[in-house]
Amino acid sequence: MSLSIEMLLRQSAAQLADAGSESPQIDAAVLLCFVLDKPRSYLLTWPEKTLDTEQQAAFDVALQRRLVGEPVAYIVGEREFWSLPLKVAQHTLIPRPDTERLVELALEKIPAEPCSVLDLGTGTGAIALAIASERPDLQVSGIDLRPEAAQLARDNSENLQITNTRFLSGSWYSPLTVDERFAVIVSNPPYIDKTDPHLEQGDVRFEPKSALVADENGLADIRIISEQGRQFLQQGGWLLMEHGFEQGEVVRDILLELGYSQVSTAQDYAGLDRVTMGCWQG
Ligand code: GLN
Repeated sequence: MSLSIEMLLRQSAAQLADAGSESPQIDAAVLLCFVLDKPRSYLLTWPEKTLDTEQQAAFDVALQRRLVGEPVAYIVGEREFWSLPLKVAQHTLIPRPDTERLVELALEKIPAEPCSVLDLGTGTGAIALAIASERPDLQVSGIDLRPEAAQLARDNSENLQITNTRFLSGSWYSPLTVDERFAVIVSNPPYIDKTDPHLEQGDVRFEPKSALVADENGLADIRIISEQGRQFLQQGGWLLMEHGFEQGEVVRDILLELGYSQVSTAQDYAGLDRVTMGCWQG
């Protein structure tokens, strides 16, 4: 039996709420728009329209995936970041709104003149592409351990017609040549401890552990990035890293011990410590 858009939205939102979704109405609407390939306004304009058999079947599949907890962004294959629609895939972290704070802070630190910027652990390319879109005069490099992530970031760059980027694959700085220097290095690295119960809840269960979890209470990668960053920052260059809300002090200590100056922590939109930065005087 075919249901109207209005009925379908009501029914599926109720099922999603029962299944524990925190945003059942939005989830249902986003999945339906994806299946119909229409904007959200269509659902409000045509509430009495019914789905054809194929659309209904596609919606049922999408809804089932969400009912078992899979993130909406993986089901529809897309997430918006910094107003840029980005393709996402299971091997990348889903870009978070709070990471836009890292972009804002990086843009403040990037010199006014053309220079090079590096994004480590770029995933979908979200941070690199946001910066590159704001500053077409920059050369923005993104590196990800996984070749498929670097390729996804490249595809996103191409789809968005952003041309001042390059994406490489390898562990942290390893794909770079020794003489490369950057005015700003940014990263949203894995920083969650493997015993954190947060990993067993909600959308993160479906995201790659390699993008979330790090050794040494979540600090191992932050340490590597900070240590080796000294070699790749130009004099007076800045390193900015996202981290957990309880890691501000320890990340500041890491940067200070390594000889960075003007070390400080900034808060995310919820007022929690989220980004720590330091300047490398060489
Ligand atoms: N902020 C993300 C979360 O709490 C983690 C992102 C990361 O580890 N880089 O789910």
